[in-house]
Amino acid sequence: MTEHPSAPAGRSPITPARQASLREHNLGMVLDQIVNVVNPPSRADIAASTGLTRATVSALADRLIAGGLITELAPVSSQRAGRPAVPLVPAPRSLMAIGLEVNVDYLGVRIIDLTGAVLAEQVVTGNFRATRPEPVMATLAAVFADTVAPLTAEGIPLAGCYLALPGLVDRKTGPLRLAPNLGWGPVDVVALLTEATGLTDTPVWMANEATLAARAEAEMLRPLGVHSFFYVSGEIGIGGAIVNDGAVMPGRHGWSGEIGHTLIDPLGPLCGCGALGCLEQYAGKDALMRAAGLDLALPVDALLTTSDRGRTVLALAAGGRALGTALSNTINLIDVDTVVLGGIYAPLAPYLLPEIQQEISARVLFHPWSPVTVQAAQATDYAALTGGAMTVLGEIVRDPSSWTQRILG
Ligand SMILES: [Zn+2]
Repeated sequence: MTEHPSAPAGRSPITPARQASLREHNLGMVLDQIVNVVNPPSRADIAASTGLTRATVSALADRLIAGGLITELAPVSSQRAGRPAVPLVPAPRSLMAIGLEVNVDYLGVRIIDLTGAVLAEQVVTGNFRATRPEPVMATLAAVFADTVAPLTAEGIPLAGCYLALPGLVDRKTGPLRLAPNLGWGPVDVVALLTEATGLTDTPVWMANEATLAARAEAEMLRPLGVHSFFYVSGEIGIGGAIVNDGAVMPGRHGWSGEIGHTLIDPLGPLCGCGALGCLEQYAGKDALMRAAGLDLALPVDALLTTSDRGRTVLALAAGGRALGTALSNTINLIDVDTVVLGGIYAPLAPYLLPEIQQEISARVLFHPWSPVTVQAAQATDYAALTGGAMTVLGEIVRDPSSWTQRILG
């Protein structure tokens, strides 16, 4: 490393590149203060909370306004003397952050903006078991094109897409390693989606569906003071995510949380993953419907509306016991005091909870003095779509300079 000729001894020179990256960092910090707070802050509030000077905050806020990421509300007079404060808020309809999902019995698209408002969405039910990825991605691309078209016509730019899949994903750029219930893998799903949608200039990323749903749930629980929990996502498969201090713990490769393939009975039924007796075969949607004597193609609501109440109650009790057993094993291993039931388990929670709680009381070692709370998810209604779109927003907030550069040049 060569010393800068005019640098004082013992001090590294601050190069233009460093100043630029500091400015980028500060731009993200200011946007974060505006997007992730309850009360809209003024420039002075942001200066006070970040330690930046008022002039720096003003310059950065002006850049964010010009880039369409934030906007000013009407000035409010404060108690203190001086000019009225101008609250800053995320700009509505200034960009499209897109969550996409392919699951075993549906696929969908949800578009949100920086305010968190849903601008458009479409969910299509279907049967995607044992399919080939190419035609499914073509269907998803058609739904995507249809959902995006009116917003594109309005001139709203696309910020990025996050695709949720029920399988093992280790990098956000792919590939998908394995999705047992779709019968996919390994496959470069991002490349297929990029080609099918023609999105060559827009980032397309992917993640496990439970990971993205857990991110949406973490956002809902943050204001309630719940920052660490285990999220279990019931669909035909069962996914899970460990959330610690607001962040999903991915594990060594990004494959943590696969509670659906933990063991209930070594002599149990064959699972889509090739092993015997996985939790999915006892508490996945197919398993619950089969035990209740219902057509597997029916929506999960059929469990709540069927006339054969007796058989359904027994089916849900057995599913709840299996789920409670697997959850107890998980809680003993990772030490969380909150479990969130997502996906189909949210509406079924009242029927599953007694058995789950009984298993947890009997099996979790610390439960007598630190009781475990089990609750239905707050982020319902295809939470992975919201989580995916929110993760796109997270990328913008982390690095808004790429966005402002794209808009402003
Ligand atoms: Zn399995």
